[in-house]
Amino acid sequence: MQCLLTAGLLLLLGDFVATFGYHVPEHVFGKFHNAVHHSPNRSFVRYAIRHRQPIALIDGFLSAAPYLIFIPLLWPLSPGGIALGLVLAEGHVIWRHQFHPQYQTPGWLKQVCRIVGITTPERHWRHHRDGNQAFGDIFSFYGQPAARWLRELRRLKQWWLQRQLSNS
Ligand SMILES: [Zn+2]
Ligand SMILES: [Zn+2]
Repeated sequence: MQCLLTAGLLLLLGDFVATFGYHVPEHVFGKFHNAVHHSPNRSFVRYAIRHRQPIALIDGFLSAAPYLIFIPLLWPLSPGGIALGLVLAEGHVIWRHQFHPQYQTPGWLKQVCRIVGITTPERHWRHHRDGNQAFGDIFSFYGQPAARWLRELRRLKQWWLQRQLSNS
């Protein structure tokens, strides 16, 4: 039980920080998430080599870091739960990027995901097509607050750009 709880906490906390601290800000202020992750070839390593931009690797690392930072906090609860959480997180990364045109999530699984609030490949594909939509990599219920956070950060960026312009 402790193991499952720890795994669930790792996923909830990790996806929260990943969504609000990395993913949404990247869409407003960043460059590499859009250029790499939203392209057909999503490998940060291949992008860094091909474009001779090793700095892109930092971005790739930052996308995973939100899950790793909670390891020390959750370790006393259950090290096995952390391992399970990381395996589930990686498994979900692979699953949610099933963008083959023939792929379809089975109806029963779609239903379960809708009830529990888990992002399906179909939902994540919507985000890859339009970076303004369907945030929440693992949990779809982060999608709505993330959309508000996106609007706020865009407003902040706009304000900052205008300020720069009027100061120059
Ligand atoms: Zn993705
Ligand atoms: Zn994105």
